[in-house]
Amino acid sequence: MAVKPELDQATGQKKIFDLFDAVRIPSPRAMVMAPRLLILDETLSSLDQLEQARLLELFDELQSKHKFTYIFISHDLALVRKACTRIAVMYLGRVVELAENRELFFKPRHPCTRAMLAALPTLEDNRYDAATCLLDGEPPSPVHIPQGCSFKTRCPDAIDACTAQLPPLCKAGSTLVECHLFAQKEALQQAGWLIGA
Ligand code: SF4
Repeated sequence: MAVKPELDQATGQKKIFDLFDAVRIPSPRAMVMAPRLLILDETLSSLDQLEQARLLELFDELQSKHKFTYIFISHDLALVRKACTRIAVMYLGRVVELAENRELFFKPRHPCTRAMLAALPTLEDNRYDAATCLLDGEPPSPVHIPQGCSFKTRCPDAIDACTAQLPPLCKAGSTLVECHLFAQKEALQQAGWLIGA
């Protein structure tokens, strides 16, 4: 829902909203429609941390009161961790892993998720240690996505099957992961992953 500037009663001039208001004001207005689902696409990315925290609290309050679901789309993993209960990781337009918040941050399955977390600084003792999952190279062009697994050009654990076929969707605990390793126990052992399936 777009924010329209309102007229200041005293001056007759259009009121100028700051960026925080531009995000905050539409949220309660959207509730008037009693939505079942809200999509927040990089909604907080231009705000500072204090404003982000205030808005996340506001979303929580609105959600408790109005019982809607929201899809929170962001590149900021700290925000995702705070805002989301269930997280989908996307690579080149495909969901490659779908997991509960804690599972994803402490027990990531897909090599793309592992590499993403490896790039995230942390002071937590128990968080997944992804130091061995650093990537080389560049992502392929989205208009020339490779056959088979689109992550294969950067994946440190790629096997022959990754070039030939699209990876199957596999269940690992409560997580869904699109990766050949999870369809082949031997490949998981070769990669040396300590993963409970
Ligand atoms: S399917 Fe293969 S290339 Fe793709 S993430 Fe899994 S191991 Fe890596």
